[in-house]
Amino acid sequence: MRPARALIDLQALRHNYRLARELSGAKALAVVKADAYGHGAVRCALALETEADGFAVACIEEALELRAAGIKAPVLLLEGFFEASELALIAEHDLWCVVHSLWQLEAIEQTAVRKPLNIWLKLDSGMHRVGLHPKDYHEAYQRLLASGKVARIVLMTHFARADELDASTTEQQVAVFQAARQGLAAECSLRNSPGVLGWPQVPSDWVRPGIMLYGATPFEVEQAAAARLQPVMTLQSRIISVRELPTGEPVGYGAKFTSPRPTRVGVVAMGYADGYPRHAPTGTPVVVAGKRTQLIGRVSMDMLCVDLTEVPEAGIGSPVELWGKQVLASDVAQQAGTIPYQIFCNLRRVPLDYYGE
Ligand SMILES: *Cc1c(COP(=O)(O)O)cnc(C)c1O
Repeated sequence: MRPARALIDLQALRHNYRLARELSGAKALAVVKADAYGHGAVRCALALETEADGFAVACIEEALELRAAGIKAPVLLLEGFFEASELALIAEHDLWCVVHSLWQLEAIEQTAVRKPLNIWLKLDSGMHRVGLHPKDYHEAYQRLLASGKVARIVLMTHFARADELDASTTEQQVAVFQAARQGLAAECSLRNSPGVLGWPQVPSDWVRPGIMLYGATPFEVEQAAAARLQPVMTLQSRIISVRELPTGEPVGYGAKFTSPRPTRVGVVAMGYADGYPRHAPTGTPVVVAGKRTQLIGRVSMDMLCVDLTEVPEAGIGSPVELWGKQVLASDVAQQAGTIPYQIFCNLRRVPLDYYGE
């Protein structure tokens, strides 16, 4: 059997969820969209269900997958519905629903629903992606109330630059939000993972941690709260071939690496078809047989090469950690010019093995 695996530590997932609650002192919706950032939404949600205040997903398809698995906790649709016809299912399955655009508000006014809806009314406080314009916010709130179709409204917004700890944008967004919500007596939700970890002064009755649940930092710099996260995924495989090269020999496609000295090269059963980033360059950290070494040459579809010159004890069958508790996914991501969010979401073909139930 091909040895490539992603081990998922559910104990670490629970630790990170509790940390989000502890740091924020708020209720926390565990964000499990995109199959829990590649970690398996159903298994992750089941592991958190007894303690989570609820979950958040991107769309009704993802929400129904959780309901089909027996998850009874609240599930928020972060983009609401894409067509008014989804409203019947939203009511039937007791899903919570973001309203981010006026067309959604109108659809709610015009559609008969069997049960009152839980709405999260989203303000565009400066990110300019989705969310209502501040000038429309009060009126939208009043219209939702007047529609008679709404049981509860939570006021929300989303930060564009909370991962930049020195950017003033986050405080400006908070000010825009506070001004827009003046006079509206409802709970609010502002903070995502970087908000929870890096912006403790920002009020938020509900927080929406995503990446931090999986134990990866959203910051490019070291940060004290993020240092308390526990990595959940270990992407591992084994050495399947070893060769000794003299100085001056190329390795892999495009000969992007040439041995600068006699080099012992190990081949690992892991490639970009598994989601390992093809743009990870020579020098990207990897752990072989418990020792830190580096990737060499181009990543290919099913294999990649590592330098074993300083790991003489490693041979065929030696375990390799591509990322996990020894090599951080965020470090691999940074080397590859991307973010841990993307390398987790790109994971495919690799079986997921769960532990720490
Ligand atoms: C994805 C998402 C989150 C979670 O963001 P993280 O940075 O992963 O914590 C929170 N809120 C909204 C609206 C989202 O779309």
